[in-house]
Amino acid sequence: MDPLNGKFCNNCGEKLELSLAEGLECTLCHCYVHVKCLKRGSVPGGLHGDTFFTFTCADCSPENSEIFVRNKLSWLQVIVLVLYHLQHKCPGLARKGFFHWRHHVAIFIDKNWDMLFSNVKKKKKWMGTIAGTLSHFNKYIFLSGISVFNEPAFWTLMYPKLSPLTVISAYSVMLAEKQIYKNKKDASVTDSDLFSIVLRNNIENEDLLQTFNVESFTIVPEAKNEEEENRVDLYSYSSDGKQKRSQKRKNHKQLGLPFNKLSKLSNSSALLSSDDLMELNFDSPETNANQECTSEEIKPDETRFLNPFCHYNTSLNSTSRISGLNLYSKLTGGIKQDFILSPYSGMYLKPYIRRDVESFPTWLKLMAEIKLSVNGGEKNYSLPPRSSLDYTYVQPEHIPAINSLCNQFFWPGIDLGETLLYPDFSCVVLYKRLIVGFAFLVPDVSHTETYLSFIFTRPYWRKCGIAKFMIYHLIQTSMGKDVTLHVSMNNPVLLLYQKFGFKVENVVLGFYDKYLREDVGESKNAFFCRLER
Ligand SMILES: [Zn+2]
Ligand SMILES: [Zn+2]
Repeated sequence: MDPLNGKFCNNCGEKLELSLAEGLECTLCHCYVHVKCLKRGSVPGGLHGDTFFTFTCADCSPENSEIFVRNKLSWLQVIVLVLYHLQHKCPGLARKGFFHWRHHVAIFIDKNWDMLFSNVKKKKKWMGTIAGTLSHFNKYIFLSGISVFNEPAFWTLMYPKLSPLTVISAYSVMLAEKQIYKNKKDASVTDSDLFSIVLRNNIENEDLLQTFNVESFTIVPEAKNEEEENRVDLYSYSSDGKQKRSQKRKNHKQLGLPFNKLSKLSNSSALLSSDDLMELNFDSPETNANQECTSEEIKPDETRFLNPFCHYNTSLNSTSRISGLNLYSKLTGGIKQDFILSPYSGMYLKPYIRRDVESFPTWLKLMAEIKLSVNGGEKNYSLPPRSSLDYTYVQPEHIPAINSLCNQFFWPGIDLGETLLYPDFSCVVLYKRLIVGFAFLVPDVSHTETYLSFIFTRPYWRKCGIAKFMIYHLIQTSMGKDVTLHVSMNNPVLLLYQKFGFKVENVVLGFYDKYLREDVGESKNAFFCRLER
């Protein structure tokens, strides 16, 4: 099954090895070149473990430069690639080694669609296909978080040490084997058994065959250079993913583990045609990964990006409608106590920005009064201690609750999942597991400017400094850059912005025409304000 078996690199003369030192074959002269030995330093897009290209080496190309043409990829290939890349380059995004199928995998694919699929157009239900593919291959190619920490939306690779090329090669061998069993009318062997048999028959290096083990999963911050790379990898997937070659060289030595002989089950280069998989029906809505997405309308194209101009600020404003208490379960979020790696800056962010035990919001005062009057008769009754108000960076668990609050208090269709790509510029406030406020900046609106897109505090949690601290925190994160925002002309929060030094730059008539509900009672005209740095 090993398309690299017995091949040597045309550049460095050393062996090519599945999962350890992979490379590409020139379609014209059939020479091989390690990925790390490519002239351009990496494959286009720079995805870790990506060898799915039709390649022409520099010697064979008319312009003396390497040519890469993206192969047609199946969804299985794409998801294996993305999980493998995230696992190596953005380990801090993961929860216990697992990635959220939608907030991590789908968003990544969305951002890098052209690099992965070149000219293939997005189908309407593409996100459902991701969920379906993950579920379909659960327990032999992918592993659901449900077994480990009861999180069906989180996924990882069953064999984290196997490269995408190895997994896909083994899968195509498995399909051929399956046909043999089918012809024998032997249905006793399951796909996952067969997959594991194929792997064991072909790969003798036990180390590579380790299945995912949550115990051994630890986040190891990578070296500075690697962090820089993360940033490039997530953000600039133009076709020009050039990386420094010297750095690639440096890693070379670590990859010299012996990779024992592989029997040849198949002579084909073992790349699955994407049509094999496109044929599969992934529409079954009851799959694990789908649990979360079936209840909502997915409108990837409409809600994909945060539109910096759909800002509506209800902070410290009491006119918002309070309803939907039955959404309680949706409105609660949680907090992860680990450091999280920002895919934007490559920095590890603290689990807490601030823990405030002093503030006493109206809601908690009300609760305390109720408790006192209920227990007032009891001697020696004292109120249980209050928890802290926790200021944190946005995490995947918060997104459903935040979207739900936006839907309730702003307008429908807002998806703030995008903010997970730049958590440095966020602030989410929790009381225990209840989200009481949040604020987001959009970085890099221009070279000199960030934009305050959303800020919100729950009614009854206002007027105790929550919004003030969030604004203060966000201003701190964008040192050296102007911060801009829109605010409805009669929203009293303008005074707070002015205290921070924001100045009204101009008036935008009808700014909120499309968004603001009639019942909110705020002006649809906005001030555009700027804090100069
Ligand atoms: Zn080489
Ligand atoms: Zn060639």
